[in-house]
Amino acid sequence: MTRPDLLLGPAEREQVAAFLEPRVESSGAGDASDGAVREALRFLNRDVMGAGVTACGPKGDLMRVAETIATAAWCDMSAAFSLWCHRMVLEYLSSAPPGSPLEASTLPDVLGTRLLGSTALAGAMARHVGGAPLSVEWRPQGDAIVLNGRVSWASNLFPPDFVMVTAAANADDGRELIVALAGDTPGVCIEPYPRLLALQATGSSSVLLRDVRLPASWVIAEDFASFITRVRPTFLLLQSSFCWGLAARALAEARTCLRGVNEVFCADVEALEGRSAELAGEIRAGLSRPAVDTPIRPLVQLRLDCAHLATAAVALEAKATGGRGYVTTSPTARRLREAAFLPVQAPTEGQLRWELSRSA
Ligand SMILES: Cc1cc2nc3c(=O)[nH]c(=O)nc-3n(C[C@H](O)[C@H](O)[C@H](O)COP(=O)(O)OP(=O)(O)OC[C@H]3O[C@@H](n4cnc5c(N)ncnc54)[C@H](O)[C@@H]3O)c2cc1C
Repeated sequence: MTRPDLLLGPAEREQVAAFLEPRVESSGAGDASDGAVREALRFLNRDVMGAGVTACGPKGDLMRVAETIATAAWCDMSAAFSLWCHRMVLEYLSSAPPGSPLEASTLPDVLGTRLLGSTALAGAMARHVGGAPLSVEWRPQGDAIVLNGRVSWASNLFPPDFVMVTAAANADDGRELIVALAGDTPGVCIEPYPRLLALQATGSSSVLLRDVRLPASWVIAEDFASFITRVRPTFLLLQSSFCWGLAARALAEARTCLRGVNEVFCADVEALEGRSAELAGEIRAGLSRPAVDTPIRPLVQLRLDCAHLATAAVALEAKATGGRGYVTTSPTARRLREAAFLPVQAPTEGQLRWELSRSA
């Protein structure tokens, strides 16, 4: 029988909560702090997923990665989102040519959390699905390429110890490449970190690329379409996992408030719990299929459904919790702000619904 949840087992859940929850206040509303994210990612990668062993490497146990992301989101969406970014970069780097510096040196550094992974592929996904132009262009220069442009958003931007993966189009013929950039590459300029509604700790900002010279060996993929097709199922399933973890926590909190007048919310909580169990089953089923065999439309629908579940769950938690949840420093208020991120994270709700409206 499919398990009705996506969380780690009880002992590991406690271990994650004991680590993340005392730190959550500062990460939800405070300053972007490299130390907090790096510490959280090290803990989740090494102590929870055991990233030092090959089983949890880029080609490792994605179910365990999804459970860890969901359990992190149960406690703190910043940690869950940063972990998603980091793990996606591991996925991308697993396409790097064998023996290349990316495979031999960068990938082990990301696996060991010595470098943080920053995925800047929102534009690439929009290009793949709807043909939107890329905002970064490249030109050949000897045996290197030179990049210019702007990435509107990326996260885990804590220089110099990060590696960002993005897409660029050839300035003349539009040919797309997927490239990796080290955080200390000359010409990589991070704009000031904006104040955010939530997820302040994720180090999110825009990145300007000014004449960034990259050796050809930093190109991860030249076949843009097959790269995106390969990574998209994991991209969507792990995003669904952080949506699911946030929803599950909000529902658990709502359930603790169902006394007296609040008994009127019992049926609502039960209905969303039922939906949550169904969606956890769908995420598990998606993760247990090899990526090549995964039809994409159900995963697009699943990502949308999980975001909707989270939005509905935090709204219900707020109603059941009442006035104390309206205090900005309360966990309920933080979850409301965290859930507001889900429809604007690419694929945005608009992009998901647009894609669903155009595919059979
Ligand atoms: C906190 C946060 C963290 C994010 N982290 C990531 C990440 O790690 N990886 C990732 O791929 N995406 C990330 N994103 C981007 C996200 O995935 C979506 O792509 C984005 O939110 C969609 O924004 P949009 O609807 O404005 O569309 P877009 O297509 O991005 O932009 C629409 C228009 O608004 C302009 N615009 C958008 N953002 C800015 C900005 N910051 N400054 C100036 N102009 C802007 C664009 O130039 C464009 O003209 C993050 C977004 C946020 C809010």
